Amino acid sequence: MSQPETLPDEGHDAQVVDGTTLPKDRDFTDEFDFVVIGSGASGAVAAHTLTEHGFSVGIVEEGPWIKTREMSTGVDDVFSRAIRNRGMQVAEGKTFIPMLQGRAVGGSTLINSAIAWRIPGDVLHEWKNDFGVDLPEGELGAHFDALDRDLSVRTVADDVLGENSRIFLEQCKKRGYEAAAMKRYDLGCEGSGRCLQGCPNARKQGMSVTYVPWALAKGARIHTSCKVDRVEMTGSRATGVLARAESGAKVRLRARLGVIVAASTLQTPNVLYRSGVRSKALGRHFCAHPSVGMGAALGRRVHMSFGATQGAESIHFRKTERFKMETISMPPELAVARMPGVGRDLLRRMSRLDEVAVWAAQIRARAEGVIGRNIFGHDKISYTPTEDDVRIARRALATLAELFFDAGATEVWPGIHGLPLALKSTDDIRLLREGPLDPRAYSWVATHLFGAARMGPSASSSVVDTSFQVHGAEGLFVVDSSIFPTNLGVNPQHSIMGLARHASTGIARRAKRSVAA
Ligand SMILES: Cc1cc2nc3c(=O)[nH]c(=O)nc-3n(C[C@H](O)[C@H](O)[C@H](O)COP(=O)(O)OP(=O)(O)OC[C@H]3O[C@@H](n4cnc5c(N)ncnc54)[C@H](O)[C@@H]3O)c2cc1C
Ligand code: SF4
Repeated sequence: MSQPETLPDEGHDAQVVDGTTLPKDRDFTDEFDFVVIGSGASGAVAAHTLTEHGFSVGIVEEGPWIKTREMSTGVDDVFSRAIRNRGMQVAEGKTFIPMLQGRAVGGSTLINSAIAWRIPGDVLHEWKNDFGVDLPEGELGAHFDALDRDLSVRTVADDVLGENSRIFLEQCKKRGYEAAAMKRYDLGCEGSGRCLQGCPNARKQGMSVTYVPWALAKGARIHTSCKVDRVEMTGSRATGVLARAESGAKVRLRARLGVIVAASTLQTPNVLYRSGVRSKALGRHFCAHPSVGMGAALGRRVHMSFGATQGAESIHFRKTERFKMETISMPPELAVARMPGVGRDLLRRMSRLDEVAVWAAQIRARAEGVIGRNIFGHDKISYTPTEDDVRIARRALATLAELFFDAGATEVWPGIHGLPLALKSTDDIRLLREGPLDPRAYSWVATHLFGAARMGPSASSSVVDTSFQVHGAEGLFVVDSSIFPTNLGVNPQHSIMGLARHASTGIARRAKRSVAA
């Protein structure tokens, strides 16, 4: 798998202001029609859409631009360079839940698995009926179609599906569960199984190799390693942003027409708070898809290091039980962490790493948390899965264990405190069904994050109005998943991008009208 001579994230130096090299003792200023905060799924799409409508755009990104040629296979390396707080960002509640997010150009899309799911119709109806958020399904459909084309959304090819996913699909089929190979942003995935570490040949169509360079090609400028402190307001109007470059330089970007906040569910609330936005709903109603996973020894070759990182899924239980099952191929460092035991026991398991499969479930949890005020530079996240969420996780893990034993597993590793380290037969599955209801007993991780700057028609119960503008703050827009009234039950990136495209198209049209008036 040799790298192409030129990659899409190369050759844009003239459009990049690198915050690590800005002179510390000199303020940096510039002016644009729009300033976009964040270059992840939502920010990159918004910036690109606005440039397509002919506006000048300045993007500000807290993290560095890690180019395709600089990616390494090491998990340590990606955690230290591209993941917020080196992966140590946690929600604190009754338990600690790691909340993984990218902090680099491309945001979380640099490290994610590229799974594409449109917002389900039942969720749109829920938003309309319960929250007064009536998004036009037809228009959104056209945005999703455009994203599909731009980002080469396709089903994982059979030759790079990998055994981890193939076995999962076989077992789901036998039990009559609806299951399929994933649809992903994929320009010829080579099955390296390392989406988390960054795609080695830019096959994964993340933002740092697509909408960011495409926006730069249309004249946008990106300010990397620059953290936005606050949006500057003149009266009730957003007129620019103030950021601090990593070198220490002060960066002031004026925005003639508006500021688009796309810093993600966890960072957006504090950007707004620091900018003077005061709303009872700000920081509240944070929700997620906490996920639980399981490893198993299948007694036959699985070879997780080959295949699309996440190749197969089942939404069979999405509506009825509120969980979605997925395969996930883990790099050896993380797969070993799933193995129980110590000493010879652990060594025995490690020596058969090639026979290990890992599957997981995303829970459409009902829990709501709070993003508190930023303390010492960290966003304080309070979140605890409810007892009902834990029941769902138990059912999901029991279902995965059944599939593993159907596939001939010799051992299944539940990773639940209070249960045996390894389950040996289907008789043990009842231990999962009757597992503890204390969320501390489970190993959760959350990567799908929503809410905390909710959209709604009323300023008393929401932060952002239905045109994506912060209530009472002219020209200040939010386009990331912090505006989502609920979680989705499916992977969020496509929904986030579809809404960001819809939002920024509306913003551009209104700006054109007001400039013309
Ligand atoms: C490991 C992993 C796997 C995932 N897999 C999938 C998947 O396969 N499919 C899917 O649909 N979803 C997946 N997700 C979730 C998906 O990536 C996110 O939901 C999506 O990227 C969120 O988009 P966003 O624009 O809100 O935030 P992000 O993409 O996280 O981007 C936000 C950006 O804003 C920047 N920022 C924050 N604060 C500031 C500030 N003050 N100043 C300047 N910049 C700032 C951040 O550094 C970051 O780059 C995954 C996530 C992770 C972590
Ligand atoms: S699995 Fe495919 S998309 Fe993911 S990093 Fe490897 S080649 Fe890229």
